[in-house]
Amino acid sequence: MIDVLVIGGGPAGMTAALRAGDLGANTVIVTRDEFGGMAANDGPVPVRTLAHAARLLRDAGQLNRYGIDVGPPRLDYPRLLARVREVVEDVRGHSTFRKQLDALGVTINENCGPVRFTDPHTVETESGLRLHADKIIICTGGASRRLPVPGAELTATHSDAWGLTSVPPSMIVIGGGATGAQVASVFNAFGSKIQLFHTGPRILPTEDEEVSAAVAAAFRESGIDVRENFGCIDSFEKTADGVRMFYSKDGRQESTEASLAVTAIGWIAETRCLNLSCVGIETDARDFVRVNEFLRTTAPHVFAAGDVIGRMMLVPQAIQGGFVAATNAVRGETMKAIEGAAPIGSFTDPEYAQVGLTETQASAAGEVVVARIYFDSTTRTIIDGRTSGLCKLIVDRRTRQILGCHVVGERAVEITQVAAVAMSGRMLVDDLAQVPLSFPTYAGVLGRAAAQATRRLNLELNWQASRMEGN
Ligand SMILES: Cc1cc2nc3c(=O)[nH]c(=O)nc-3n(C[C@H](O)[C@H](O)[C@H](O)COP(=O)(O)OP(=O)(O)OC[C@H]3O[C@@H](n4cnc5c(N)ncnc54)[C@H](O)[C@@H]3O)c2cc1C
Repeated sequence: MIDVLVIGGGPAGMTAALRAGDLGANTVIVTRDEFGGMAANDGPVPVRTLAHAARLLRDAGQLNRYGIDVGPPRLDYPRLLARVREVVEDVRGHSTFRKQLDALGVTINENCGPVRFTDPHTVETESGLRLHADKIIICTGGASRRLPVPGAELTATHSDAWGLTSVPPSMIVIGGGATGAQVASVFNAFGSKIQLFHTGPRILPTEDEEVSAAVAAAFRESGIDVRENFGCIDSFEKTADGVRMFYSKDGRQESTEASLAVTAIGWIAETRCLNLSCVGIETDARDFVRVNEFLRTTAPHVFAAGDVIGRMMLVPQAIQGGFVAATNAVRGETMKAIEGAAPIGSFTDPEYAQVGLTETQASAAGEVVVARIYFDSTTRTIIDGRTSGLCKLIVDRRTRQILGCHVVGERAVEITQVAAVAMSGRMLVDDLAQVPLSFPTYAGVLGRAAAQATRRLNLELNWQASRMEGN
């Protein structure tokens, strides 16, 4: 009898299996596709590789400015795709998860096709493998949501977009969230003519308003046709060269066409094949598995973690969730799901990132001080010729706690990590202002924002007056 069976081999499942094995449980992992899940095979790793290529193209445009004479860069897309495959293999090859699991004696069953429950303690794979376990942890992740309109089958998802063998001359991207913005930014850099359609009033709706406005403005400046508040999509039809999209607003229908339409309208849980009803596991309207604070499902012996529970759908959260779920599966309900500062960001051009509350959220909860440092006033960004962007720090006026940090521009994601560490350590803003962050660095902009907030709060200034001009 297996003590703990983990379904799904992404970051949540790999971590859950490792933790259960570490706690001495006889553990088995079974997964539909390759070990590694979306993070290694279809999400961050391939996407970041393409985003890196987009950045190199952009950086190549700067070479002449720094006295390096080269011709205009030319993208060889098949070679880039070969590099993406190489990176995916390399990352997989260097994953320590598999070695650690092997060392613990955890059995890994991969490429098994979808698994389904046949009774509350038994699952069966497509290939006929039956596994019977005392405790089960579901880590099956999510899948792109499809548009429920006629002709939706003519559209692609982000996964199809990464698999293209050539860059489409034009692309309609539907959905201005993180994935849509990433697809639009990357293919714009590769030379596609992009139209980015977003139903709501602003792209990147979960970012601070100032950040989403800055990204939209930069996208427009770079040639992306950003269409916010465009109405709703009626249908798609095939054209000789691609696809035509019909959409309407206030009773008026319009249409547009492109070589390819990519939908990025959100995420649903990958639970449909699992036959969860035979176990008594409840899901919500988007099929996400309902769990309590210990990541236990409505079936007492089954836990769930990662994208499949529909909370923050990111790799670090999947890893944390896998750890918590396995701990509770083996030891009983002893560990609550981890909450705290969670940085989120994306490698678009320009990059953007956030941690904590937006200015609107923080202001609704109490009185705040907001510090802004624009990138055209910092030494490092001027050196690098990357002067568009800002770092915004939101501080509670009464407690001096840092409530949020929002950055748009070069290295936004890295800068925000420093803010997240400060927030996790519950540093006061004046303490952050006194850390002598290296000069000239991108992270230094955060120190300047902290110093600005400290001055606004009329707190004792020690040495930081000098940092006003530094970094
Ligand atoms: C384009 C894109 C970019 C992203 N970029 C980032 C980023 O920069 N940073 C970040 O932190 N996150 C990013 N993410 C999100 C990140 O990939 C996910 O949050 C993470 O992979 C979730 O891990 P998981 O283990 O829950 O699920 P997954 O990684 O999706 O793994 C699920 C596993 O379950 C298996 N499975 C599914 N159904 C079944 C079944 N019925 N039976 C058996 N096995 C099954 C699958 O084969 C897979 O192995 C990105 C996602 C996308 C789509």
